Amino acid sequence: MHPPLPSDLAVFERGWLSSNNILLHGRDGEGAVLVDTGYVSHAEQTLALVRHALRRGASLARIVNTHLHSDHCGANATLARALPGLTITIPPGHADAVARWDEDQLTYRLTGQRCERFTHDDVLQPGGSFSVGTRTWVADAAPGHDPHSLILFDARDGVLISADALWADGFGVVFPELDGDSAFDDVAAVLDEIERLAPRVVIPGHGAPFDDVAGALQRARSRLAAFRADPTRHARHGIKVMVKYHLLEVQHEALTDLRAWFASMPLALAVWLRLGRPEGTPAGWLDRLLNELTAAGALRCAEGSVHDAA
Ligand SMILES: [Zn+2]
Repeated sequence: MHPPLPSDLAVFERGWLSSNNILLHGRDGEGAVLVDTGYVSHAEQTLALVRHALRRGASLARIVNTHLHSDHCGANATLARALPGLTITIPPGHADAVARWDEDQLTYRLTGQRCERFTHDDVLQPGGSFSVGTRTWVADAAPGHDPHSLILFDARDGVLISADALWADGFGVVFPELDGDSAFDDVAAVLDEIERLAPRVVIPGHGAPFDDVAGALQRARSRLAAFRADPTRHARHGIKVMVKYHLLEVQHEALTDLRAWFASMPLALAVWLRLGRPEGTPAGWLDRLLNELTAAGALRCAEGSVHDAA
């Protein structure tokens, strides 16, 4: 059961390929705001969900992205095309990369993922805010999972949009760590900041809204402690998440094609090198990761193909 949410916002709970989307209704005559838009292959579905949920006569005025991972902004372009006048607001740290559409900086090439190019209209600074309806959302910097991510907090009702900084059971892969940059301290600081905000309800980037915030913080901190104690475990976990995410997108793939995708993913190669070339070759390492994902029930291998088991 979800905790009760204010009636002037709607959460589209999407799963793992697409992040959740949160529609913030405006007053009469005021456009609505959508926080995050999901993965590019779900873009038409996102558009349909928005059209269905908008109040009669209302339009969507603005997208606000918590961060620009492919699962959070993949429908930006589709929505901007379909809904004239829509503006797009992003965290400032991403602005140059979006203007140039630098797929390396935006991580799409690095992770072997896709996102349709869009343009932004403005940025939301940490500490800045925006109002829609009767509610004001204050943005807080939430580095760790992504150095530029924001979380959004409505202090009046204690509603936190936590993106991938806090889920009911954990948090998103700490990408800078996979790149060799230290970011576990950032994760810890953001968890402390969320505790300080003391939200009544959290709307995470993935999974159902929850109100057991103390429990979620405890689970996140114990996971963080395990990753800190063994960063190799986090790096392997991060690459397994990338493989699982790819299978979520394609659903099934011949092992030879999956190996080619893996070999072309710069992040996988970088982590393989950093871990000391486990199994001797990237393909050998992929096979081992696939065995572990299969044993965990995340994937199925059959007749030379790998299938998503979700
Ligand atoms: Zn993310």
